[in-house]
Order: sequence, then C-alpha cells, then structure tokens
Amino acid sequence: MRTAETTNRAAGVIARCQRLASFSEDPDSTRRTFLSPPMRDCHQEIARWMEPLGAQVRVDAAGNFRGFYPAARPNAPRLLIGSHLDTVPNAGAYDGILGVLLAVALLEELHGRRLPFGIEVVGFSEEEGVRFSTPFIGSRALVGRLDQELLDVQDVRGISVRKAIEEFGLNPKEIPQAELENNTLGYLEFHIEQGPVLEKLNLPLAAVEAIAGQSRLQFTFLGRANHAGTTPMDLRCDALAGAAEWIGTVERIAQGFAGLVATVGKIEVNPGAANVIAGEARLTLDVRHSSDEIRGRAVEDLLRRAQEIAARRGLSVRESTLLIQQAVAMDPFLNGEIERAILKTGCKPHRMVSGAGHDAMILAEKVPAAMIFLRTPGGVSHDPKEAVAGEDVEKAIQCGLHLLDQLAASSEFQKRTSRA
Ligand SMILES: [Zn+2]
Repeated sequence: MRTAETTNRAAGVIARCQRLASFSEDPDSTRRTFLSPPMRDCHQEIARWMEPLGAQVRVDAAGNFRGFYPAARPNAPRLLIGSHLDTVPNAGAYDGILGVLLAVALLEELHGRRLPFGIEVVGFSEEEGVRFSTPFIGSRALVGRLDQELLDVQDVRGISVRKAIEEFGLNPKEIPQAELENNTLGYLEFHIEQGPVLEKLNLPLAAVEAIAGQSRLQFTFLGRANHAGTTPMDLRCDALAGAAEWIGTVERIAQGFAGLVATVGKIEVNPGAANVIAGEARLTLDVRHSSDEIRGRAVEDLLRRAQEIAARRGLSVRESTLLIQQAVAMDPFLNGEIERAILKTGCKPHRMVSGAGHDAMILAEKVPAAMIFLRTPGGVSHDPKEAVAGEDVEKAIQCGLHLLDQLAASSEFQKRTSRA
C-alpha cells in the first residue's frame, strides 16, 4: 500500500539524509569525522527537527547527539533508537544517518502521542574509526568504556580524543554522564544492509539476529628469492606461488562452511620484481561467522592447510593474530517483535547475520539490542552511489511504528530493566 502521504514521509527522511550529507569537511564529497565542525551543524539541524516534537535535546560529553522524547508518565523507562552520524571519506548519505533520521520520523509519526516509555534518539559521534583509527568511540561512552587510554589516542595531527572533545566545547570529565540510564529498556538501530542479500531476496527489511565475530590474521610465506631466468621450476622455493595456492584453498574451504566468509584482502611480495622469484609473501586473512566456534574451526583448518602447502613446497609459514572479535547475539525477544512488525507491513520477515560491526554490538554489552536492515540497492555502501528506495524507507517507518505499538502494549517488555 502506497498512499501519497506515506510516500511523502519516506521522501522527507531521504531528503533529510541528503541535506546532512552536505555537512562535510570536504567541499565536493561527504566526510564527517568525530567532532569535526560539520558535526556541530548536523547536531543543530537535527535539534531543529526534534525540538518541535517536545524533545529535550543535548550533546553528551562524547559528542553524541541525544534527543529525549518523554513518556506518558515521569520516571518511566526509556528505549533508545539511533545509529551513527560520522562518515567515512567520500561517503554516501545513508550509512548511519538513515537510522537516526528514521528514529526522528517515528517520533513525528506519533503526532504527540506519548508511550509508556520515553524514546531517546541517539546519533553516535563516532562509529567508523576514521579519525582515530579506533571505531565506536561514541557508543563506548554509553556503556562506560570511553576510558583514559582511549582518551589519549591521537589523530594524525597529534590531537587526542580528549583534546578533540575540549576543542568542540565539551568537558571530558562529564563522560560518565553519557552512560546509559539504569532504566534503559533496550537499543534499536535501523541501518542499511550494506550488502546484496536483501536485494537478491527481493525483500525490503530484515531482523539482524547476530553480528558476526571476526578473526583477522597475518600470514607470511617464506621461500628463497632467486633469479627468474636461471632457476629451473623444480628447484624453486617460490613464496608467492605457495601463497597463491593457499588463497585458492581459503576460498574453497570457506564455501564449505555455511554462513562463513573468508577473505585474503591484501598481499605484499618481497622483493617484488618481475624477474625475481618471490622470497616472501605476506597476506591478511579475515574470517567472519555468527558462531565463534565455527569461526575458530575454520581458522584452524586454514592454518593447517597453509602449513601443509608450505611443507610440500619447501617453504615455511608464520602467522600472527591481528584482531579477534566475538560474535554478538541480538536480543531474541526484540527480534521476535521485529519479525511480527515486518509481517504487519505485508512483507516476509527475514533473519540475517550482520557481517559488519555496528553500534548495536557495543550497546548489547549492557542492554537488549536489536537491528533492522534496509535493502541496499546494488549492495553499495561507503560510496557516494549508496542509495535507499523510498518504498523501503516507508516500510521501515511502518515497521517501526508497529514495533513501538507492540512494545507499548507488552508488559513483558516494560518489566525489563537494564543489565547495566
Ligand atoms: Zn554504519
């Protein structure tokens, strides 16, 4: 069902996303990093949209936008809805921002109606990790993990997180006041899928059941550099040929584990000349799955294959772990309610795993968290071509309104309190 009114509200959300995309550090493309001047414009613009709704608006000491829409009664618990306002360089208009502006749209669509719980719209200051090479600075503040060590991290100009906060006119000593209230019922995040799955399934929305865990490793194959013209094929120890055989194996093995993704995304060769057999090949391996156990088994398997290939070719192989991130389950109760809400919009509910990290996985440390993905045309994200369909935004608004009604009617939900 698409009426003129419903199309207008979706178009309004899209127009606002595009307007915020113009608040940028770069003249011809969108780049809005942690507490950069355009972030202030972004806060002011969202405040201008939220204040007429009776929302109390502030920017917390970690630079997160917080807009609180009160409940029907004082001292009621609150539900957080939001996403991030920072972007990558040369960004699209929807990654993160859409989730914040959908939250604002849901409040508008309540037309002044108050719920048994308050709704706090959150626009996180930092999720992408662009300025400080450390992601989730904004959401970490809400779970009490924006600590001294993180405040000391410096950007390329030598400005620390602490200094950036002060330069923006905020007080790092007030970071504890950014933490979640004890009566927080949960966190809900709308986000573009940033992948091709929903488009392939021809579905506008999905409930995210988990955010995949991740292992990132570096592998180094060591052989013997030698003359490419004078060394016969049977007398070589070619590190790059060994690495190449293993890359093919990674792809084949990953296909054997349902839901697993494994990527060799970077390779460096020494000495790296056309007429020299490679003595060394350094590769990265990124493995993700919603089950930590399956991810662990896959990594072990790939490690064993690398050793077998190296041994057969007279090479040696070393590996080191760069990053391990455990999988994070989204809240099963909220997921069930999201599926019911999607069904009410006339769409088939779908559950999927997020291969990318999101603020929801940080919030899940303290409160029940859930995510709703929107179909991403072409699966394109982190690019100016990033897009979203008006009818999918409309479905997201409908889904969000059904969800709020369901939660408002659920005594089970309102009895929940923070795990903080
Ligand atoms: Zn994002």
